[in-house]
Amino acid sequence: MPVFDVQQFRQQFSFFQHNPGWVYLDNAATMHKPDAVVSATSQFYQQHNSNVHRGAHQLSQQATRLFEQARTTVCRYINAKSSEEVIFTSGATAALNQIAFGLMHTVLGAGERVLLTQLEHHANIVPWQLHCQRYGVIIDVVPLTADNQLDMTAYQQLLERKPKVVSFSHISNVLGHIQPIDAMLALAKKAGAITVVDGAQGVVYKQPDMQQLDCDFYVFSGHKLYGPTGIGILYGKKDWLEKLTPIFAGGEMIEQVSFVNTTFNKLPFKLEAGTPNIAGALGLAAAIDWLQLYNTEQLIQHKLLLLKEFYNGLSVIKGIDILSLPVHNAGIVALNVSNEHPADVAELLNQQNIAVRSGQHCAMPLFSYLARPGAVRCSFAAYNSLDDVNRCLLALEQAVEILTA
Ligand code: PMP
Repeated sequence: MPVFDVQQFRQQFSFFQHNPGWVYLDNAATMHKPDAVVSATSQFYQQHNSNVHRGAHQLSQQATRLFEQARTTVCRYINAKSSEEVIFTSGATAALNQIAFGLMHTVLGAGERVLLTQLEHHANIVPWQLHCQRYGVIIDVVPLTADNQLDMTAYQQLLERKPKVVSFSHISNVLGHIQPIDAMLALAKKAGAITVVDGAQGVVYKQPDMQQLDCDFYVFSGHKLYGPTGIGILYGKKDWLEKLTPIFAGGEMIEQVSFVNTTFNKLPFKLEAGTPNIAGALGLAAAIDWLQLYNTEQLIQHKLLLLKEFYNGLSVIKGIDILSLPVHNAGIVALNVSNEHPADVAELLNQQNIAVRSGQHCAMPLFSYLARPGAVRCSFAAYNSLDDVNRCLLALEQAVEILTA
């Protein structure tokens, strides 16, 4: 296997040429887009712009063909059984809302339970909570162990309460921990639950295989997979998608409409009301095509090398409180400097052109549990280099000196 050439990989992102000197370690928030993705989206507007699924003219038919080809690309990438199982949404948040809302009342009734975990992103908490409150559904939460991993014993005990839905993130957006997803799904299925996986961080780590995972739903956002913002995927097994009540209603998702009644279109259109983000879908497909030019294992190994170097460097800086474990970690490290506020640390890093995120990372229940005001999050991507790691470590060392002087 040839050695992974990070500089060659990085050159495909014009962003870095426009922003020289920056160390971008905020990849868990959003990834940069290779030029192939930027070209695919602008090419759509320059050469093919038309609405899909509705025009009688050839231009619309061509746009429809491109849009449906993009769906097929996603379908193949995630190994769904058919492209009917691939719904375009505006992102992971929209997809989770579509699932939570769509299952309420019809599938989930009063007194039934939804099982979440302590480290979920708000997008996998609030949609359930809103509807659970309305329909009398109960939420249970899997706690963490002392080293911030999911407590699998508690998980099994909570499954004995026979939740109707189990919904959890593939990879924690705060800690970077890769969840034991195969075991979790197997146990949830044995307990008879509908399984929902929030793959917002998982999808970029490793190509997810729907038929192997065998979950009922898997969601992700295009912008965390080198794709554009405003596009995401709601994957669902056909039977479950058929059972979802549409959250959005309007054009395209209908079969017949009168003022008395409406019948719905077939999948996937039933769950895609209105004009979709056509350029976004094409951009996402371009991201997938581009990514497949690379060996995933090499990208993972490169990120693990960065992670190892980062942990090695952190171990000799005094006063660093690391919340993430170095093992089973996808390349995200949450940390604090002594008792200093994470925003102060991030600002000192910003002054050195190092982009990290600070705060609670849309996971307030996790930070209440950890009894921390928040954390600085350094998240790595395959276009980061060892030089990026070293510059961040140096800046952290200086931040410690300044803040604890
Ligand atoms: N879940 C997780 C684990 C995430 O990291 C994110 C994005 N930070 C989301 C859901 C929501 O994704 P989006 O904002 O793209 O809809």
